[in-house]
Amino acid sequence: MVDLKKQYLKIKPEIDTAVVNVMTNANFINGAEVKSFQNNLESYLNIKHVIPCANGTDALQIAMMGLGLKPGDEVITASFTYVATAEVMALLGLVPILVEAKEFDFTIDPAEIEKAITPKTKAIVPVHLFGQGADMNAIMDIARRHNLFVIEDTAQALGATYQLSNGESAALGTIGDIGCTSFFPSKNLGCYGDGGALFTNNDELAANLRMIANHGQKVRYYHDVIGVNSRLDTMQAAILDIKLKHLNRYAESRRTVADYYDKALVGSEGLMTPNRIATGTHVFHQYTLRVLNGKRDALRSHLEERGVPSMIYYPLPLHFQKAFENDRYPKGSMPISERLSSEVLSLPIHTEMTSEELEFIVDNVKSFFNA
Ligand SMILES: *Cc1c(COP(=O)(O)O)cnc(C)c1O
Repeated sequence: MVDLKKQYLKIKPEIDTAVVNVMTNANFINGAEVKSFQNNLESYLNIKHVIPCANGTDALQIAMMGLGLKPGDEVITASFTYVATAEVMALLGLVPILVEAKEFDFTIDPAEIEKAITPKTKAIVPVHLFGQGADMNAIMDIARRHNLFVIEDTAQALGATYQLSNGESAALGTIGDIGCTSFFPSKNLGCYGDGGALFTNNDELAANLRMIANHGQKVRYYHDVIGVNSRLDTMQAAILDIKLKHLNRYAESRRTVADYYDKALVGSEGLMTPNRIATGTHVFHQYTLRVLNGKRDALRSHLEERGVPSMIYYPLPLHFQKAFENDRYPKGSMPISERLSSEVLSLPIHTEMTSEELEFIVDNVKSFFNA
């Protein structure tokens, strides 16, 4: 699905020098590289504050703590997403309110958000699933009207942009109150271990988030609030600072792969290629097909037998996961998310794919339908 080794080898001299530097300086925690990466990511995203942390799940948790969400508060998010988004809500005693996806974009449906709002609702967490924006203009409008916080889960869409209602373009993750991302190795900007970050334009909130990520202290050994221990290692920051310079090129490579798949597969009977929203760019964290007529698992086996990897993101919507089972969500309560889970199939997409690999993959997809 990814080729992180080949990607590393292309930037090996730069990375090796940076890693050896960190070891030589032995400043493994909060070294100069962390600040440097933070500053460079702030410029890249055009945001006032980047707060690095240990992983994307922590980023989401710190965001919810930083906004002062309290046990019993309801937070609305998509059912068709990765578990991390809703998991941290449950851990904090918040009530995750799962809602339906939009059929063709895979992201949360704003109309369903509006219906799920109650007096207890405090925040919305849209997920920019697979690499493009959720419907942020509609979501920000709902949030303003109902006085709700917006935390963008940008773990899959770092580097993608979005066209705001005022015509301006903004990086995903910089539109709501807080943006969260992950630097897990296979993410669009991945380090060589775990890492994450939060983004905000709000000075006061930034100071609060930074304090929470650092054991609730502003001054060492003086703890004002209950916090967590969540840092980005110097080593990972050094690697990310180098890879950030390549991020636009990486996005371009992914888009080239997506263009190739689109061209080869669009209009195939029984297949739907992924939609691209008109209001933003797509950085293709995943290239996700819908395989119709109950043939998804058979196609997956067909590909596997021929040496083509593929993945199902995600085989169950959250409201069908045992951990989130709730009378609120009977079978059939979110038919689109439920259907997507049975139809989606993601093909390999990464920065190092060759035209031979692409041709091989597409030929094998086509041979399934032509057999
Ligand atoms: C990867 C991911 C996360 C969590 O990031 P980690 O760094 O693995 O903790 C959260 N949300 C989404 C949508 C993700 O894809």
